[in-house]
Amino acid sequence: MANTNYNPFENAQAQFDKVANMVDLAQDSREFLRQPQKELHFTIPVKMDDGSSKTFKAYRIQHNYARGPAKGGLRFCPDETADTVRALSMWMTWKTAVVDIPLGGGKGGIVCDPRTMSMGEQERLCRGFVRGSFDLTGPVNDVPAPDVMSNGQHMLWMMDEYETIARGSYPGCITGKPVGSGGSLGRTEATGFGTIYILADLLKNENVDIKSTTASIQGFGNVGEYAAQLYTEMGGKVITVSSFDAADKVAYTFRKKDGINIAELVSIKDKFGSIDKEKAKALGYEVLDGGAWLAEEVDILIPAALENQITPANFGSVSKKVKFIAEAANGPVTPDCDPLIEKAGIIIAPDFLANAGGVTVSYFEQIQCNMNYFWSKQEVLEKLQYTMAKAFNSVYGLAKERKVYMRDAAYMVSIDRVDKAVKQRGWL
Ligand code: NAD
Repeated sequence: MANTNYNPFENAQAQFDKVANMVDLAQDSREFLRQPQKELHFTIPVKMDDGSSKTFKAYRIQHNYARGPAKGGLRFCPDETADTVRALSMWMTWKTAVVDIPLGGGKGGIVCDPRTMSMGEQERLCRGFVRGSFDLTGPVNDVPAPDVMSNGQHMLWMMDEYETIARGSYPGCITGKPVGSGGSLGRTEATGFGTIYILADLLKNENVDIKSTTASIQGFGNVGEYAAQLYTEMGGKVITVSSFDAADKVAYTFRKKDGINIAELVSIKDKFGSIDKEKAKALGYEVLDGGAWLAEEVDILIPAALENQITPANFGSVSKKVKFIAEAANGPVTPDCDPLIEKAGIIIAPDFLANAGGVTVSYFEQIQCNMNYFWSKQEVLEKLQYTMAKAFNSVYGLAKERKVYMRDAAYMVSIDRVDKAVKQRGWL
C-alpha cells in the first residue's frame, strides 16, 4: 500500500531544492527543472467483459527532454496520482542523466488494478492508452516501459496499437517487450541486477565482503526477485522478504533466519509478486507483519516495492546493524528521513542510481530495435555492468570528494548534466 502521508512530487522537489541550494544553481534553471515540461491527463473508456463500460484515468508526463526523448515506465496502480507520476518523471530525468544515456525523463500511470481485470480488458486498456497518448509518445518523443503491475505483454499490445495507427514498424516506440518480439535479453533482470551491481561496488569500496553480509528486501516483484537472486549468487544471505497480499489487503514479511532460497520463494509467488502465505508456512517460513522487514537485524536494506516506505515514523525500528540501504524502488525514503539515515552513518545507494539498470537496458533495447540486430544476454549484462560501474564511480567519487550524502552527490551529477544540455540547446 502506498503511504499517502507524503506527496512524492513534493519529496522530489524537496530533494532537488536541497541540492540546487548546495550547488547554488541559477534561478532560471531551478524554475525550469523543478517542474515537468509537458503533461497529458486523459481518460480511457474500456468495454468490460460483462458488457458494461468503465472509464480509467491515465497520465503521461514528461519532466525533461533536453538530453533526448523522454523515457520512463508506465504503472498500473489503483492509487496512482498525477503527483506520483510527476515525481517519477522527474526522477527519470535524473536517472537517465546519472547513467549518461541520451534520453530524458517521462512517466505514465493508469489508475487501475490489473489483478481484477481479465486479459481482454487489460488489452483494451493498453490499446486505449496508446490511442489517447499517441501524439505525445513514440520513438523520437517519449518511450514507455513496464513498471509496477505492467509487463511485457502489455508493452507488446501497446506497440501493436502504435504501429497500427502509425502504419509502419516502430519497435523502438516502447521497451520491455517480450524477447522474440523486439525485446532485449536481460531486460527482465536489468533493474534488480543493476541494484546489486551498484551495491557490490559500494561494499567493495567500503571494504565489506558481500559474502559476509545479510539483507532484508521489501517487495518481491520484478525488481525484488532479481535483486535477491544476484545478491544471493554473489554470496549474500537474504533473511527476510516482504510482499503485499491482495486478498488480505496487507503486506507480510517472510523470514528464514538461515537464509532464503530465492528459487523456492519464486515458486510460491504470483505474477504480481505476492507470496502465498500458506505455502510459505508449509515450507517453514515465519510469516510476520508487513513492517518486520525493516526491523530485521541485517547489514543491508533493499526497499523494492513502493515510494515513502522508510520515514521518520518507522526509522526508529531499523536495526543498528544496518549499514547500507540500496534503494531499488523509486522514492522509498522520504526526504525528512534522509538526515536521520545520514546521522546514523548508513550509506545509501540512491534510487535513481541504484535502479537505473532497467532504463539502461531499455535504451539498449531501443538500439537493438533500431539495428534490427539483437545481442546475447551476456553482452547486454556486460554493457549494463560497465554503465552502472561508470555511474557509481562518478557519484561515489563526488560524494567522497565533497564529503556529501550519496543522494546529494547523485543529484549534483545529474542536475549538472541536464542543466548543461538545457543551456547548450539555448532554452535558458
Ligand atoms: P512489481 O509490481 O513487479 O512488484 C512490486 C512488489 O512490491 C510486489 O512483490 C508487491 O507485492 C510488493 N509490495 C507492494 N506494496 C508492498 C508493501 N506495502 N509491503 C511490501 N511489499 C509490497 O513492481 P517492480 O517492477 O518490481 O517495481 C518495484 C519498484 O521498483 C517500484 O518503485 C518501481 O517504480 C521501481 N522500479 C521498477 C523498475 C522496473 O524495471 N520494473 C525500474 C526502476 C524502478
